Amino acid sequence: MTTATTTSRACTSCHADLDHCHGVLVTHADGAVECHGDSACDDTSISRHDWRASCTDLGTCPCALPAAA
Ligand SMILES: [Zn+2]
Ligand SMILES: [Zn+2]
Ligand SMILES: [Zn+2]
Repeated sequence: MTTATTTSRACTSCHADLDHCHGVLVTHADGAVECHGDSACDDTSISRHDWRASCTDLGTCPCALPAAA
């Protein structure tokens, strides 16, 4: 078995040695942002994240539900 050269999850930003994150930056309906993913971070700077989503897209967040009247 040769596993020498295949590095998983290396993106162009990795190769460029940029400060970045492989998590998904989730934007909530109330304006809050948080990083989700295997390598979630505490820095929610949008520029550090290639992958972004809103919690309404994910459909897994309580704030994505319509407000009960
Ligand atoms: Zn990367
Ligand atoms: Zn949400
Ligand atoms: Zn992150």
